[in-house]
Amino acid sequence: MTATMAYCLRCIECGKSWEPDASRYVCPACAAAQEPGGLTRGVLAVELESLPPRLPDGLAATCRFLPLADASLLPPLAIGWTPLLEVPALRTALGMPHLYVKDDTRNPSASTKDRAAALVVAKAREYGLSTIAAASTGNAATALAAACAASGMKAIVFVPASAPEAKLVQILSYGAQLVPVDGPYDAAFELCLAACQRYGWYNRNTAYNPYTIEGKKTASLEIAAQLAPSWPDAVVVPVGDGVILSGVAKGFRDLVRAGLGPRLPRLIAAQAAGSPAIYDAVRDPARVIRLHSKAASVADSLTVSMPRNGIGCLMDLAESGGDAVLVPEDEVVAAIGALARGSGVFAEPAAATAYAGLLVARRQGLIDAGERVVVLITGSGLKDVRAAARGVVRPPAVAPLIEAVDAIFGPPAGRGA
Ligand SMILES: *Cc1c(COP(=O)(O)O)cnc(C)c1O
Ligand SMILES: [Zn+2]
Repeated sequence: MTATMAYCLRCIECGKSWEPDASRYVCPACAAAQEPGGLTRGVLAVELESLPPRLPDGLAATCRFLPLADASLLPPLAIGWTPLLEVPALRTALGMPHLYVKDDTRNPSASTKDRAAALVVAKAREYGLSTIAAASTGNAATALAAACAASGMKAIVFVPASAPEAKLVQILSYGAQLVPVDGPYDAAFELCLAACQRYGWYNRNTAYNPYTIEGKKTASLEIAAQLAPSWPDAVVVPVGDGVILSGVAKGFRDLVRAGLGPRLPRLIAAQAAGSPAIYDAVRDPARVIRLHSKAASVADSLTVSMPRNGIGCLMDLAESGGDAVLVPEDEVVAAIGALARGSGVFAEPAAATAYAGLLVARRQGLIDAGERVVVLITGSGLKDVRAAARGVVRPPAVAPLIEAVDAIFGPPAGRGA
């Protein structure tokens, strides 16, 4: 690392550190180990030369924790600084007086993916590139589409044709070029890699582009600032590729390095039963991540055959002293309503998996009732209304007559029949 460099990129596998212009994506030394469709090899972590001396209190201060030459390169949207909710009703219901919900549904495109899109768009502008491509289960593409629309750039996105309709419509409304892929997310990922090599587009694929992890770390910078002077004991994160989890770990790690926090909180990875690669690897004595070629879950944003950031995600879980939990598919759907009724936050299935994961972790004794716990709610329920509909009963329509209301509620009390 030279003295003039604001940051370097360190490979999480071989530990080698590179100047930022040595690679826009993965570690050049580890890239040869890459197998098609496999875990992403040589994922790079941003290492800032110096970190600010105090917790951020807003976007400008957050930018000083980012590898960003110029904050004006960020998309002109209100990304991040989402509320950390105290959820009194849930606290009472669960007997957890220090429970919090980080409501990332409140991002501009309604998911945590906006955090990654913001930094990737800024880096593209730094490089002088105007076209960015991404593979996505839906939200990463939607976030990129929104950020590019706000910044006057072009987004090209590869998304399973089976993605929830709201996500596809959102992508198209933002004016991105949608390439619906007749296949699962993993096929879209490989196709996007090939297309970027062929056409020279800047690639935002998760973990493959190091600024996706770095952008998502802003969630934990905010949690720390919003909780100060307290510090979380545990954070529950829904996991597919494992990039949000590693982003959350990275944010807390940077704060610890800066002397602004005591330790990594225990990270609890919540996976849905239909897409269990990380959970299985944590349970496996050899910690091998196996391909789940039949991955299928109502939590579409978590459905991956091979978690691309599997290596980093397992490292971060271990370093934090955390664990993984598996949520049955029907508990994912039930959690949408339970969270909404208990907190007023309407989550898509992947995000509700974090809340369901909290309940599983409590049942298994991984989290104590008195601990300070944050559940990261990563995406809005409006993105997949069909999934939420499975958990509610819609009453039949009534005639616009007061007798019809009486038929529902009975005669009003104290007024006779
Ligand atoms: C992408 C996504 C996740 C999972 O993030 P990974 O980095 O793939 O683990 C969770 N929830 C929502 C809403 C998402 O869009
Ligand atoms: Zn390497």
